[in-house]
Formats: sequence, C-alpha cells, structure tokens
Amino acid sequence: MPFVLYDTMQRKKVEFVPATPGHVGIYVCGPTVYSDAHLGHGRAAVVYDVLRRWLMHEGYRVRFVSNVTDVGHLTDDADEGEDKIQKRAKLERLEPMEVADKYFWRYFEDAGALNVAKPSITPRASGHVIEQIELTKELLERGYAYEVNGSVYFRAAKWPDYGKLSGRKLEDQQAGARVEVRGEKEDPRDWALWKRAEPEHIMRWPSPWGEGYPGWHIECSAMSLKYLGEGFDIHAGGIDLQFPHHECEIAQAEAAGHKFARYWMHHNHVLLNGEKMAKSTGNFITLRELLREREPMVVRFYLLQSHYRSVLDMTDAGLEAAARAYFRLLEAYRRLHGEAQAASAGANRELEAALDQLEREFAAALNDDLGTPEALATIFTFLPQLNKALEAAAGRESLERARDVLERLGEGVLGLFPPRVLEAKVGGPLLAGLVELLLEQREAARRRRDFEAADAIRARMAELGVLVEDTPKGPKWRLQQG
Ligand SMILES: [Zn+2]
Repeated sequence: MPFVLYDTMQRKKVEFVPATPGHVGIYVCGPTVYSDAHLGHGRAAVVYDVLRRWLMHEGYRVRFVSNVTDVGHLTDDADEGEDKIQKRAKLERLEPMEVADKYFWRYFEDAGALNVAKPSITPRASGHVIEQIELTKELLERGYAYEVNGSVYFRAAKWPDYGKLSGRKLEDQQAGARVEVRGEKEDPRDWALWKRAEPEHIMRWPSPWGEGYPGWHIECSAMSLKYLGEGFDIHAGGIDLQFPHHECEIAQAEAAGHKFARYWMHHNHVLLNGEKMAKSTGNFITLRELLREREPMVVRFYLLQSHYRSVLDMTDAGLEAAARAYFRLLEAYRRLHGEAQAASAGANRELEAALDQLEREFAAALNDDLGTPEALATIFTFLPQLNKALEAAAGRESLERARDVLERLGEGVLGLFPPRVLEAKVGGPLLAGLVELLLEQREAARRRRDFEAADAIRARMAELGVLVEDTPKGPKWRLQQG
C-alpha cells in the first residue's frame, strides 16, 4: 500500500516515492534554543516521530535530521534586532552557548518524556558556520548574492521562483514590514546570508567578509544538503515557517545549483483554550509545565487525536477525555501482557478476524497522509472484541498475537506504550504497597476462615476503585478507570 502525503508544494495529496528505493531522508526544522519548548514544539516532535516510525514500520531505512538553531535567529524578521540567544544570555547572565546548551538539553528531556526518539543527526547552526560560508560563497559567485560593508545579502529580484511554496511574494512581507529597512540593501526584499558583527555582538566567526555570523535561513539549506544530499525526500516544519523561512531555504539551495527537498510537509498551529498562545496575555504553558501536570503519554495521545494539518486546541476538558481514553487502552494492553500466556491454548476466530481488520484499517489510516486520529479510532473499535476474549481467557495464540500487534502498532508506531507504563503500577509505589498490604490482610483473614472480614476488605476496596480478582495464581488487582 503506498504512502500518500499532502505535499505543500503541489497543494495536493501525492504518492510518496523515495529518491533511493528503501531509504527515506527527512529534515525537520527544530527549535531555537533560547527558552523552554511550548506545545507547538511538542506537536512537531510527536507528529514527525510518528511519521518516522511509520515509514520504518513499512520497511524503510530512515535518516531523520532535525536541527537546533543556536545562532542567527534574530528577534526581528527583517534582519534587524538582537540574536534571540544572546538576548536571553544577558537576562540569565550566562554565556550565549550556555543558554543554547541549557535549553537544548531541556528540549530533549521534554521530547524524551513524550517518548520521541532522538534524531539520527541533530546539527547545530553554530557547528556548521563553515558550510554556511561555503554556500554563501557559491551564491556570490553565481551573482545571487552581494556583499556590502561585511554583510552578504541574497538578491531577491534575481530569483523569480521565490514564493512557489507558499504562494506568497516578498512584496507581501515588505508591505507588512514594521521596521525601517537598512540602507545598505540593494532592495528591501533582500535577506541576510551573513551579517557583520557589531562590536557588542558576542557570537562571531571569521569569514571572507570579516567577523560576523550567519543569517537564520541559510543554516537549514546548508545542513539539510550536507546530511541528506541532493534532492532529499521530505522537508517538514511548522506552517508558520512556510514563509519566509522555507521560501528562503529553497531559493538559497536552488540558486546555488542544488536540488532541494522533493516533498514538503507542514503541521498546523496549537491553540490553548481556543486562543493563540502568548506569554504576554498569560495564555501560555510550557511543555515542561504540562508534562508535570499530566502523564506524558496522555499528552502524546491527545496530540495524535488531531490530524497534523488541522489546528489543535488544547483544553483541560479535552485532556481529561484523552486521559480516560488512554487509560482504558493502557488497561487492555497491560491485561494482555499479564494474561495472554495464562489463557487456555488454541485460537479465537473472532479475535483473529478483528485483528486482521485492525491491521488493515490502521495501515490505511496512516498511509492516508498520516491519519493518526483514524488510526487511534481503529484501535478503539477493536477493544470490545479484545476485552471479550480476555474475559473468556481462551485462545492463547490469538491473545498472544493481539499482544504483539498492539505492541507493534501502539508502541512501535504510535509510541504510546513505552516500557515504563507497562512496568509502573498505576498510582505509584505507595498505592501499590498499600494495596498489597490490604490483600495480605485479606489472605490472612481467609486462612483463619474469617470470610466475613475477607469479603468486607474486598468490598471496601472496590468502593475505592480498586478491583480485586482471584485467579489460580493468587489475587490480582487493577484500578477502575474513568
Ligand atoms: Zn529551517
């Protein structure tokens, strides 16, 4: 079954055909590491993690490159303002690279909590200044760039293709520009490839044009081509990066004679309680804060309940509902791991048919432009059949297959069941210890034939939401969910 994705460049769904059979190269624009990640970063991390996992599941070898911007991203789009990292460094009284490292590791801690796999390569802009200088030199040689006072600008008027991805033109940006354009540009639409470092600028490197630092857009052209090669497969990022960032990336690469990305994927915005997130209005939460309040897998589940191209609105009610659904799923998964082997031998025809249907529909959902909401829905359609089979405790082979399929699709592809959720007792070690203590007391009561006390303990536990079940291997307990 072919993988179909919505290509922003062609403005339609197309069949994905890799440049090299069996291999996929993906480049995702990563965060600028000057503060903690927010929900938008979380969404990007989870969506492209599932893209990568799905393509691996389909047999591809995937090289997943996602950069980290630690230099050159200015507070203003029109090549003015201060470097975001340097500005933060002053506030925190740190070296700029201390700021970059601090938020770099914090970003990967958050992504790790969301069970996002590390990229194959995480290039940092500051580690690729040489490559950015080389690309700038190529553009100068071809007449697509010019140097003035130690800065180098891309000559926009010479690249009529600009705007082919977003359908927007540089004039649009110019019309909305808030800043007075610096006099040294030939044309206000030109953008910086290299900037002269003023005396107070800390992050600076030598170059053929004097001491300076790279512009923001050039890093992604240089680093994606370096690690994925000419005409690599998929370039992805947030919808707000389409223009001007991705347009600039394309212009810089193609004007220098390179073949750039063959498919473009963009994920949509995240709202918080129906409104745009903004620190200034207080309608803002960092990913780190959210992950302290919620089980990270509930957040991951919630992010996957929306299609990546639609706007996602994060609300408390939505998270509550996601938590109920997720724990219902997790409960079934845990039971399968604990009980499949103990079921009586044989196959369960109904369960086998439901599994066939699950595998078919799950694949169809993800192959249709990464339809994660539909993929999750297929698992929930399957749950009643699974629970029925678990209650009957019959058909060991089919239950074991169900366990393997859920592990492959639920954890392998969707990343919803990292080993720790299987091992962890719900409620943490204190609750587990107390429940075990009560169960021991109940067993002791039974041994002295005080069945009244034993039943009272069990009934009282059930009232509190702890369900106890007696099995040939002794009592088992689980929490009633939702
Ligand atoms: Zn980028």
